[in-house]
Amino acid sequence: MKELKQLVRENILALTPYSTARDDYKGGDISVWLDANESPYNNGYNRYPDPHQAKLKQAISAIKGVPVKQIFVGNGSDEAIDLCYRIFCRPGVDNAIAITPSYGMYEVAAQINDIEMRKVLLGEDFSLPMDGILKAVDSNTKLIFICSPNNPTGNAFPLEEIERLADSFDGILVVDEAYADFSDKGSTLSVLDRHPNIIVLQTFSKAWGMAGLRVGLAFGSEEIMQIFDNVKYPYNISSACQQAAHEMICSDISDNVSEIKQQRQLLAKALEECNCVEHVYPSDANFLLVKVTDAKAAYNRLIEHGVIVRDRSSMPGCGNCLRITIGTPEENEKTLQCLKQM
Ligand code: PMP
Repeated sequence: MKELKQLVRENILALTPYSTARDDYKGGDISVWLDANESPYNNGYNRYPDPHQAKLKQAISAIKGVPVKQIFVGNGSDEAIDLCYRIFCRPGVDNAIAITPSYGMYEVAAQINDIEMRKVLLGEDFSLPMDGILKAVDSNTKLIFICSPNNPTGNAFPLEEIERLADSFDGILVVDEAYADFSDKGSTLSVLDRHPNIIVLQTFSKAWGMAGLRVGLAFGSEEIMQIFDNVKYPYNISSACQQAAHEMICSDISDNVSEIKQQRQLLAKALEECNCVEHVYPSDANFLLVKVTDAKAAYNRLIEHGVIVRDRSSMPGCGNCLRITIGTPEENEKTLQCLKQM
């Protein structure tokens, strides 16, 4: 890995972050708050939220086994993706690499930030194209995005390959683990300490059932997470959201996750028996990528029955593929029956 000061944009290194009223005074014993131009009338939301989400981060730290100073909380993990570009990539100069097909926001965020995106096609079996990725690297490559389990292919990449990629690249490797809670192949968090150039992204939007709240997570070295904190909007997570997320992560999601994984297996097996299904790809996520004989026809038929899935046919290597999220047993059965009759 290059030194951090060679990777981070100069203007970001030189930044004096905004100091909120809550940052300026950290003592106790205050009963009259006149430092932040808030409304004095208590309605539950008249005060600004904790800009550093201390209580929420403590709870996340306990669940994930990562120290508080190595955690960033964002407005969805999409915020963390955008911050990676804003922190590391000089607009119009630097580039980033992502596998394809993969999650679309890596490219959209690159475009917004005026960063060249180099896409490297996955292997035919959706394996990690290690050589292709390393060949695409040049001296201005700051970021590599690997989504594992990958959206929309569903497969998780072996941890050893991710570690090998981190060791072979002197920039920042971003491992997006939005779906890791559904995978039995382990999390990159377990090797984070060995790789200061890895940033792991996770989210409460999937297994934790909080997509509407918008809470995404990034984990990395203390130095990198401090820079994330400097660059984010001061109050990026609302107080309602911090409180709700704190309450919800105290609940046990293991039964829901087990049911989704069991349903994934049952649905995959049943779909393979359908005439209109050519292939169900193995999945470590909460969705199945399913190759059908005619994606448009299958998609429209499902819509006629009030079921919406994602047609991923236009993505590289995904011709005639639908991405079907695992729902409740009843929802999965309904989906199956529609496709069975085709
Ligand atoms: N990463 C991946 C791979 C995703 O599929 C998604 C959402 N579909 C996200 C990140 C963004 O998640 P959020 O912003 O809700 O945390």
